[in-house]
Amino acid sequence: MSNLPVGENWYEIYDIGDGIFKVVEPHLVGFMQANTYVVRGRDDTLLVDAGNGVMPLRPFLAAHGLEPTLVLATHAHADHIGGLYEWPLTLCHSAEAEGLRTLDPDVTLAGSDYDIFDLRTLMTGDDSCSGPIITALPYAGFTSSDYRLRAPQVQAIEEGQVIDLGDRQLEVLHLPGHSPGGVGLWDASNRVLFGGDAIYDGRPYDGLHHSNVADNRRSLQRLLTLNPLVVHGGHFLSMQSERFKQVIEDYLAETACLTRPRQE
Ligand SMILES: [Zn+2]
Ligand SMILES: [Zn+2]
Repeated sequence: MSNLPVGENWYEIYDIGDGIFKVVEPHLVGFMQANTYVVRGRDDTLLVDAGNGVMPLRPFLAAHGLEPTLVLATHAHADHIGGLYEWPLTLCHSAEAEGLRTLDPDVTLAGSDYDIFDLRTLMTGDDSCSGPIITALPYAGFTSSDYRLRAPQVQAIEEGQVIDLGDRQLEVLHLPGHSPGGVGLWDASNRVLFGGDAIYDGRPYDGLHHSNVADNRRSLQRLLTLNPLVVHGGHFLSMQSERFKQVIEDYLAETACLTRPRQE
């Protein structure tokens, strides 16, 4: 039995303006609190990622008047994919589509023994992580056996594809580095970027077994050239242009010597 308290509300939802809603799961350890976004359009409503899947997401959104008709995973890490199975189909970059469909531990980071009460079952690249992944129970009596990741149906997408919501178009940007098949979504008319885990308000995370620093640098350099006004990342608070540039420039400066050919 766990000594964790029961969490009040599993999800929190925020109207962040311009037809965009953000859902967070406060009762997970910090780095597993991934952002889920709902983007309302005239014809379609898009879900961007789906959290950890501890509690049903779709009824929660419906209770707030949000009924996504399109679903996209920015990448296939466990903290972004938990609720995808509740919808008929998920769009995911081709580099991670099969891994998401089969819940391949190399792609999701969730080991075959993945246990929401044991961080060591998550392949973070940091062996010092231990303890529960949740900081509260979703309901009294909740145990390990009440949670598992469930595989969604997946359709592969590619760089350059456009997700059309009727009055809002989002272009798929392939942004490898954090993971091989990470994507961002670029709304060029409004200069709004959804960054997934490629870019958020914190040092970009490149310490996973499938991370690649050189790719990450290229992806972030590319994002700089877009010059977005607002960036909604896969974690933390959204950023405006100045902070976005700072995060990238700091990372590029810090990693410059890691990828430059060595001069003997
Ligand atoms: Zn994440
Ligand atoms: Zn990630």
